[in-house]
Amino acid sequence: MVFDQPKIRIGISSCLLGDKVRYNGGHQLDRFLRDTLAQYVEYVPVCPEVEAGYSTPREPFRLVGDPDNPRMITTKTGEDHTERMLRWARKRVRGLEKEGLCGFIFKAKSPSSGMERVKLYDRNGVPSNRGVGLFAMTFMEHFPFLPVEEDGRLHDPGLKENFIERIFTFHRWRGMETRGRTRGRLVDFHTRHKLLLMSRGPRHVTETGRLVAAARDLPPGDLFSRYRSLLMDALKVKTTVKKNTNVLHHIMGYFKKDLSADEKQELLEVIGQYHGGLIPLIVPITLLNHYVRKYDQPYLKQQVYLNPHPAELKLRNHV
Ligand code: SF4
Repeated sequence: MVFDQPKIRIGISSCLLGDKVRYNGGHQLDRFLRDTLAQYVEYVPVCPEVEAGYSTPREPFRLVGDPDNPRMITTKTGEDHTERMLRWARKRVRGLEKEGLCGFIFKAKSPSSGMERVKLYDRNGVPSNRGVGLFAMTFMEHFPFLPVEEDGRLHDPGLKENFIERIFTFHRWRGMETRGRTRGRLVDFHTRHKLLLMSRGPRHVTETGRLVAAARDLPPGDLFSRYRSLLMDALKVKTTVKKNTNVLHHIMGYFKKDLSADEKQELLEVIGQYHGGLIPLIVPITLLNHYVRKYDQPYLKQQVYLNPHPAELKLRNHV
């Protein structure tokens, strides 16, 4: 797999990169995002509050009222800034269309940028965690298929791997679409992603496979948008040790005639150790990649599952 295509463009809440744009004049630097992930992606920073014209420092906002239609109110003076923020957000998301984004990383808990569980106060001032920041809400409505995550959740190894897998997949998808929406390209894309889909469960392979089989009966625009939605919905599903173990056994089946008795035994032991929680996923994957090269397995060579993102990110060392 080649990772030297143009960098993946990702939107991000500016304060996560260390910009001093928070209401109190501070930042919320996340070193993994700024120092590690930044080597593979190009960020498009967005600070809704500063870009909508508020100064730094400023009086903080909070969300109040109906979860489906929250108001953004200043905490002390009680001024309602909802319309101003929404007007700006609608314009900004239209502007982001031309940025070719493959995802967005939001700052958690913010009344502008938080994508879920933001504090929302009822009319008696009692908080619940049912709010969504106004910019994040507008963004997700406008780009429902784009991978989105929050800084806090990205400290969970499983969620981090899932998000990064999704942005790399969406980047490959964009690249394929840019070369032209042909049925042949879709079949090739689907073939390369089959085992990745299988790691989410057999249903996702069946559904996407059925759509690809019916490709000739559908206009390309319809076909591609339906496939994109099945693909991105499937990848949102968290993979599990059990699902990965199934995929690893499935891959092993391709070497039936190649592996020596010793090699088979070793591979089964390594998969068993992964299944038992003794070693991370990267160990059986590395051994399988070794056999793919040794026995020159053409179908497996092109499988994204065996190499979904740069090894330097060490994402499968912890899952
Ligand atoms: S959370 Fe959003 S609005 Fe607040 S400082 Fe960060 S980027 Fe700006």
